[in-house]
This record gives sequence, C-alpha cells and structure tokens, in this order.
Amino acid sequence: MRVVITGGAGFLGSHLCDLFISRGWDVLCMDNLVTGSDANIAHLTSNPRFHKVHHDVSQFIEVPGEVDTVLHFASPASPPDYLKFPIQTLKVGSLGTHNALGLAKAKGAKFLLASTSECYGDPEVSPQPETYWGRVNPVGPRGVYDEAKRFAEAITMAYHRYHGLDTRIVRIFNTYGPRMRLNDGRALPNFLYQALVGEPITVYGDGRQTRSFCYISDLIEGIYRLLESNEHEPVNIGNPHEITILEFAERVRRLTGSGVPIIHRPLPQDDPKQRCPDITKARRILRWEPKVQLEEGLGLTCDFFKAQIAATARPA
Ligand code: UDP
Repeated sequence: MRVVITGGAGFLGSHLCDLFISRGWDVLCMDNLVTGSDANIAHLTSNPRFHKVHHDVSQFIEVPGEVDTVLHFASPASPPDYLKFPIQTLKVGSLGTHNALGLAKAKGAKFLLASTSECYGDPEVSPQPETYWGRVNPVGPRGVYDEAKRFAEAITMAYHRYHGLDTRIVRIFNTYGPRMRLNDGRALPNFLYQALVGEPITVYGDGRQTRSFCYISDLIEGIYRLLESNEHEPVNIGNPHEITILEFAERVRRLTGSGVPIIHRPLPQDDPKQRCPDITKARRILRWEPKVQLEEGLGLTCDFFKAQIAATARPA
C-alpha cells in the first residue's frame, strides 16, 4: 500500500509519515518546505519505503506508479505564517487541493483533506458541531486561510458527489506536540519558548479568549480512524477541554517553574473569542476521544522544546 502525504515534512504531516511507515506502507512525502522542515523527516530518509519529493502542490502533481491514499496536509497553518504567505496559503488550499484531488482521481485513491476549526471563524456557537456553518470574515487577514479551507471542503465534496471519489474531511482543532516549530508564532510554542528562555509571556488581548488543545498522538489516531471509516462529511477532531489563553499562560509558567511575567499585547484582528470542538460525532462514529491530558502533553512538548533550544544555542 502506498500513501502520498502533501505537507509531509510539516508538524502533522511528519507524524502521519511515521504512522504509515510503522504500518508497513510505502510513503511519498511531498513538501516545498515553506513551513515544513527536513529535520522532521530526517529519521525516515534511510528507510527504503520512504521517499520525499520537493514540490509545490499548487502546481500540477505528477506521481508515477500506484497510489492507494492521498492525504492533503500542505498549508501554512499558524496565523503569523498565513499572514506572511497569504497568496501561497490561498493557492495551496484551492489549486493545491484541486491538484491533490486530481491525483487521487487519476490513481483511484482514497483522499483525506486536512481542514480546520477556522472554517467556523469567530463562532457564535460553542462548542462547535460540524453542522454549524461558521462566522468567517472573508476579507479579513485570516480570510486567506479560512476561505481557502472552506473552498477546499467544497471542492472535496464536489469530487465525492460528482466523480464518486472516496473522500474524508477532518476539521482539526488546535493541536500541539513535538515538531511544532519553536518560532511558528502560535500561543503554545510562544509561551513555552518564552518561559524556557526567561522572556515575558505575551498574552494577546485580555486573555479571556478560549482554545482547546489536542495532543498530536490523539489527533493522529483520530485521523486514522476517520480514514478507516465510511464518513464523507466533515468530522471534528480535537480536545474538548477548553481553557482561556490567560489560564493557559499561567499553566505554562507553573509547568516550567518559570518566574517570567505575563504581559499583554494587542489582540490580532478577527481573533476567535472561543473555540471548542463538539466531538459527539467522532465519539459516535469513530469511537474516538482524546486520551492525553494537557499536563502530560505539555510536559512532553516542553522536553522537545528544551532539546531544540539547547541544540540551537550550541555553537556550530
Ligand atoms: N496568542 C497569545 N499570545 C501569543 C500568541 C497567540 O495570546 O504569543 C493568542 C491568540 O491571539 C489567540 C490564541 O492565543 O487568541 C491562540 O492563538 P494561536 O496563534 O495559537 O492560534 P489560533 O487558535 O488563533 O489559530
């Protein structure tokens, strides 16, 4: 069995490469390394069942040979990244999804789209069930990601309905763990980095906005179960344990034993005030729910970040 993973050198993509290699599959990892990193897949490159190709999936995708499954995970995903690469973000979500679907159709392969809780925008409904249509500002700074992913969902459903493609859509909520970039600008790596190097923790706004953080191993298990299911409509995968960003900053400070102050910075435009997945559907049809508690997951991620900081501080 052979899987193509777009964005395979990214945070989520590289963990999916690991999963499929461990299950005996051949893996073709495709990435243009805009936000991904060779370091995430370095441990796989000596495996004869693992191959990587440097390619921007917004351009036509050519893969010789058979393919059983296409997982489309290519995209910048942290707000600072998609603000820095707005056009690439729109292109990879639209043209890139079209090309990845075209590949799956040409090969008769199953297709899974990595979608996002950003489809719900700044929601008036919480927790967010899959049936909620969302509240997205199409012309705001986050629109480049949100609308690209909403288009990606629409075209995936069109390929399913019109071409009969065997598709899945996972709406991924905030996820964290080893291989997140220390400097990707999201709250979790920022806070851990700041606490570990002794800088003030930057909470945007008053910190009363909420998020719900899912550990990477739980997410990967959920995605695998979705792939094995027959569900074609979107499914939320995330951890329903909701926490304010201020409380989260305090947790990080406690966990690291750091005495750094918490300072406030302006809230970015259209920053969602609340985000929490309703995982009733995943519980029912996938028999899935997250297992890793925030304390444990944060500890594991903290160990990874400590090693990263030590490695970058070391003289070359
Ligand atoms: N945030 C913060 N300080 C930071 C980075 C982010 O307070 O240094 C806030 C951000 O404004 C948002 C929340 O933390 O309300 C989560 O942001 P993140 O960038 O992790 O991703 P998002 O969930 O918004 O996609």
